[in-house]
Amino acid sequence: MDIILQKNVTEDMLSEMKRELTSQKISGEWIEVEGQLTFHVQKDNTSKPNFWRLKTYVDRVIEDAGSYPKASRSNHLELSHVQVGSTLIGPGHLTVIAGPCAVEDEEQVMKTAFAVKAAGATHLRGGVFKPRTSPYAFQGLGLEGLAILKRAKEATGLPIVSELMSTATAEMDAFVEEVDLIQIGARNMQNFALLKELGKINKPILLKRGLSATYMEWLMAAEYIMAHGNPNVILCERGIRTYETETRNTLDIQAVPVLREKTHLPILIDPSHAAGRRSYIKATSKAAIAAGADGLIIEVHPEPEKAMSDKDQALTLEAFADLMKSVKVIADLEGRK
Ligand code: PEP
Ligand code: MN
Repeated sequence: MDIILQKNVTEDMLSEMKRELTSQKISGEWIEVEGQLTFHVQKDNTSKPNFWRLKTYVDRVIEDAGSYPKASRSNHLELSHVQVGSTLIGPGHLTVIAGPCAVEDEEQVMKTAFAVKAAGATHLRGGVFKPRTSPYAFQGLGLEGLAILKRAKEATGLPIVSELMSTATAEMDAFVEEVDLIQIGARNMQNFALLKELGKINKPILLKRGLSATYMEWLMAAEYIMAHGNPNVILCERGIRTYETETRNTLDIQAVPVLREKTHLPILIDPSHAAGRRSYIKATSKAAIAAGADGLIIEVHPEPEKAMSDKDQALTLEAFADLMKSVKVIADLEGRK
């Protein structure tokens, strides 16, 4: 457990805390990171996080930081940025990744890429390997689809984001070569063999939250990638399974403040897979930016009714442009660019 003190802690407060630590026989060590004092409690102490949270001199308490030392904010108070192509993802750089659920053909991708760019998107998404519930559903164009994404990147300058599902060398090599940000989907969040392989490359990874994953499980999945050598991880909340059936998933907007406390990694929100219906996406995108997310990933299709996957949640090009205007108002209010 880590007890992180307020920046402006006084000598008196510090003495009070030290008296408390002594009287409760709590041992550990003091560390100072970027002007904030942290008391790192030794493992064998019975920790009482809520006792410390009530103290006015305490900024925050991280209970499980020892389990994910590389992803944890307690060892890295400053929030991280991840370089994706020529862009930075993280605080101060509002990211909007937009594009179709699946790459279908050249015209669909090009049309979408130019339109989302004109509306202000910073990155282009498009799945070429699709994790479909039914084995009979469209599975994606595979590496052929990657060539289309590459041409869209050359034409628009937008860095590309695509999902990798396999550890096969040919696919891994092609993604490392062509894709700027490798997406790991909800269904693979705990595919530990895949996570270990991702640790051996230095391409940035967009790690989506598993369908029913706790924060701890999600952070441990990020730690797998980082522990194997790749520090470039971005987390993406995309809704979790709950008892509600009206929406596809339930968007856990609290992921933003909870993760901010626990990790230094950038946080994106995917309102499309949370909602499952296009009419809810504008409201949740605004909420995500207001909550402090570093950006969004949104599904857009020039003709949603013809989309080969996730058609109910795809925004039209016009609806995406309209959403961007609304999001900008919230970003301006929050003093973000
Ligand atoms: C997707 O982005 O198209 C996708 C399949 O997402 P998720 O893994 O979050 O379901
Ligand atoms: Mn999708």
